[in-house]
Amino acid sequence: MEDLEKINGTLIWYYYICPREVWYIGHSIEADQENDFLLLGKHIHEIFYKREKKEIFIDNTIKIDILSSKKIVGEIKKSSKYLKSAIMQVAFYLLYLKQKGIFLEGELLIPEERKKEKITLTQEIEKELFTAIKEIKNILNKDKPPKPLKIQYCKTCAYKEMCWS
Ligand code: SF4
Repeated sequence: MEDLEKINGTLIWYYYICPREVWYIGHSIEADQENDFLLLGKHIHEIFYKREKKEIFIDNTIKIDILSSKKIVGEIKKSSKYLKSAIMQVAFYLLYLKQKGIFLEGELLIPEERKKEKITLTQEIEKELFTAIKEIKNILNKDKPPKPLKIQYCKTCAYKEMCWS
């Protein structure tokens, strides 16, 4: 079984978007904090989770939002544009908890689209996660980030100045 040490939900999310960004984040390279996209994400998170959520930290590394009324792992996103990333991020939290002996279901909330998606840690998803974790570790062990590849996400990426200027 793959060790989850040094892997977190953010790395999983970016892995499905851009491996170069995984390297930047894993090496604590600071992004442009005033990037509109980042600010909007934070804003939505604050508004919708204020009343219901309970944030917990596990092992001082993994931050998980437990929706108190339902006892599920919740994650909120501003749109379903990067749905795969979001699903795998929640699945990673479920896997992390499973390894601690805690078995929960997940829920992805997209308030702006009034969408809700239930997430269950199936064997298939678990297998896919272990492959992703292995690859993330390979990326992080490299001295240099992978070459940039122009993708749609680059337009709103906080690292775009570092990749394309
Ligand atoms: S600007 Fe594009 S290539 Fe560079 S880190 Fe962001 S998404 Fe990846």
